[in-house]
Formats: sequence, C-alpha cells, structure tokens
Amino acid sequence: MPIGPVDWQTIHSRPLVAVPECWTKCGGGFCCSNDHPDFQFRLMPKGGQGTTILYLEDEYLWLKANGHVICGEENGATIAPMVFDYGGPRPLVLRHAPCAYLGRCNGKVTKPLLCRTYPAIPVFGLDGRLETTVPASIIDATFQLKDGRPLCPLPDSATTDALEQDPALAAALAHPRLILHTQAVRAFIESYRQRLQAWEGFSLSGPAFWQAWELAYLGRRLVDRERVAAHVLRTFAALAERTGSDDFA
Ligand code: SF4
Ligand code: SF4
Repeated sequence: MPIGPVDWQTIHSRPLVAVPECWTKCGGGFCCSNDHPDFQFRLMPKGGQGTTILYLEDEYLWLKANGHVICGEENGATIAPMVFDYGGPRPLVLRHAPCAYLGRCNGKVTKPLLCRTYPAIPVFGLDGRLETTVPASIIDATFQLKDGRPLCPLPDSATTDALEQDPALAAALAHPRLILHTQAVRAFIESYRQRLQAWEGFSLSGPAFWQAWELAYLGRRLVDRERVAAHVLRTFAALAERTGSDDFA
C-alpha cells in the first residue's frame, strides 16, 4: 500500500521546543554560535562564528517550495548533499550548510527540524512511538562524554514534552521515513560514543582535544559506518514488513 508524504506542514507549523529566552540560560545561544574558547578548528566554523545545520532531503525540498532554506540558493549558492548508502533501495540524503546567523535567523530562513528539536533529537521505534532521545549535535554528545553534561542546559524533556502535548505533531513525526532517519541517528550516536571513548585522543583536553577531534571526526574515524548501515537496513526491512511498502525511504 502506498505511504503518503511526510506532513511537513504540520511539523513546521509547530514551535516544538519553545523555552522562552532560553539563550539567557547558556550565555548567549551556544547551539547557534558554538562559542567556546577551545573550538579553534581548522575546517569547521571556529568558536563563535556559527554552526552547521542539516536538512533531511525531503524536508529541504519541502522548505524550498514552502519556506526559505539557508544559503541564498536564489543567488546561485547550493546546499551540499550528504549521501549515506546503507544498502536499501535508496540512500539516506541530508543537506548541510554553514549557518552564521548566530540565532538571528527569524525572518531570514525557516529553521530546520534539527534546530527546532534542540537540544535533543527524538528517536521513534518501529511502531512510531517515542523510543528515546539523543543529543541534537555531535558537539553536545561529545561534551556529555567528556564532562558528563552537554553545554545546553535544557533538559531533554524540553523536546519530548512538545510531542506528548501534541498528538497531531506526534503522528506527523511517526512517518516511516522519519523513523528510519531517527534510527540512523541513534545508531550513529551509539557508535560514536563507543569509538570516542576508545579513541587515543580522548584523554586530551582543551584546544588540543578539539583540534585532534576535528581531524578524527572529519576523517570518519569515530563512527563505524558499516555498523550504522546494518542497523538502518534492519530497520528498513522491519518497516517495509510492517507497512507492506518500501517506498517510504
Ligand atoms: S537551546 Fe540550549 S544552547 Fe540553544 S540557546 Fe537555548 S539554552 Fe542555549
Ligand atoms: S538556522 Fe537559526 S536556529 Fe538554526 S543554527 Fe542557524 S541561527 Fe541557529
């Protein structure tokens, strides 16, 4: 049976995490600025200069037609695709772009889902119910392991409460395509946590840690991509069996 499109209209009509003036709790919007003195990266945006945002391909196409994607595509700029072939009929595709708005994006771009569920990404089980949450950024996942807590002071319930109080939103997010993507994120973060703790640079600190981390992370040494692919493929097969369709991915 064909499965309809993701209801992006419902998803993007909700504020999701809306903690008034939350940026006053973290010293000025860490999630949008990555403003940390140890972030002296060579390739990634340096601390205080912004961050990287991600769109699901499906979301990106919807927002291009119904909102405003970042990066001035109307002026010829493009938002690069990131393709992950997990062995299913179609790869997972994300779009990534630097964002230097430092929290002042209102009226300029439509915030992607990832920005709006911050500080957590909800992960949905095969039945579409909320299974768990994972940190919404690799930086926060890293601080959690290094320091025992992320830099964003909001609890994960800031994300999950929004779902529990809004059944229409929860239903829209329980689409098999989003289940597949959130399970991919879960497998990615689980593999990352294991490899990060076993990585020889884990005991470094300060700028030395983050510079070594940047090379290892961008060099794809901190995630077992085959393990992630295997989890996504298993999830895809189970969803295809549950829904009787494979056209959702
Ligand atoms: S979501 Fe967290 S890190 Fe971002 S501005 Fe709010 S409190 Fe700060
Ligand atoms: S799009 Fe807005 S919320 Fe998202 S990182 Fe950029 S400034 Fe922050």
